[in-house]
Amino acid sequence: MPSRPPIARTLPTLHRAIDLLRRRHARTAIVPTMGALHEGHLSLVRLAKQRAEKVIVSIFVNPTQFAANEDFGSYPRTLNADVAKLAEVGVDLVWAPSADVMYPSDFASSIKVEGPAVAGLEDAFRPHFFGGVASVVGKLFNQCRPDFAMFGQKDYQQLMVVTRMAADLDMRVKVVGAPIVRERDGLAMSSRNVYLSTEERAAAPVLYRTLRSVAGELRQHGNAGKILAAGRRSIEAAGFAIDYLEARHAHTLAPISSPDEGPIRVLVAARIGRTRLIDNVKV
Ligand code: AMP
Repeated sequence: MPSRPPIARTLPTLHRAIDLLRRRHARTAIVPTMGALHEGHLSLVRLAKQRAEKVIVSIFVNPTQFAANEDFGSYPRTLNADVAKLAEVGVDLVWAPSADVMYPSDFASSIKVEGPAVAGLEDAFRPHFFGGVASVVGKLFNQCRPDFAMFGQKDYQQLMVVTRMAADLDMRVKVVGAPIVRERDGLAMSSRNVYLSTEERAAAPVLYRTLRSVAGELRQHGNAGKILAAGRRSIEAAGFAIDYLEARHAHTLAPISSPDEGPIRVLVAARIGRTRLIDNVKV
């Protein structure tokens, strides 16, 4: 049986463990997660192991990135199964703090990222989200002092925001983006996919299918507005309510109006039943 990694739950335990990992100048990488781990998360761990000698996985369902009406309470929490998966892949430390450890009652600080990377997309529908993400990721970086931090392109705007924050605040960490891991039918893996009913799960591949066809048509330099409008119609026809389907500049996330303004990323967020899914593709 693979040996289970040590789990730190308090800051003194974490700091002792990190000091040990960093001895002899070992490079460390962190993979921040909210748990309910799947192959997408494990692919980040494998990439981390290619970059660094020691890998830390944090598991923390961060309350400050959920609005009151969102799924903080029902978000899947599967720590035992998560640690077993991490033991299979092999990691050196699991950082699983409680909310009280992360946010003591007198906690009073936050990190705010502004500019084009934060404008629109997720921020328009979840205005609390990037403040919560930037602040918790900033804390994780200070707590663990990693050389590398692995983030999935699945949360593309989050990857851009964290990259911006690390550069702006001179955080000595290299933020690395990793490809999206998908189910066989194209649905991007997500901890939230467990919310989908059988019918919703059957409808869900429409997101990736549409992203791919939109990307293909943009490559042919068609009219971006028309292509996106047709894409929205296919997604809605499958039973989704769309938050956004947009083409953005792949690096700045600034809106683009013509396929020639690339490199382009097409991003979608849509809701079906009680589940909100996001996905994106490169053009
Ligand atoms: P989460 O636990 O959902 O907050 O995700 C933790 C990290 O895993 C984030 O950097 C995500 O972008 C990444 N991730 C989640 N799902 C996938 C996926 N299907 N493929 C690649 N990375 C993913």
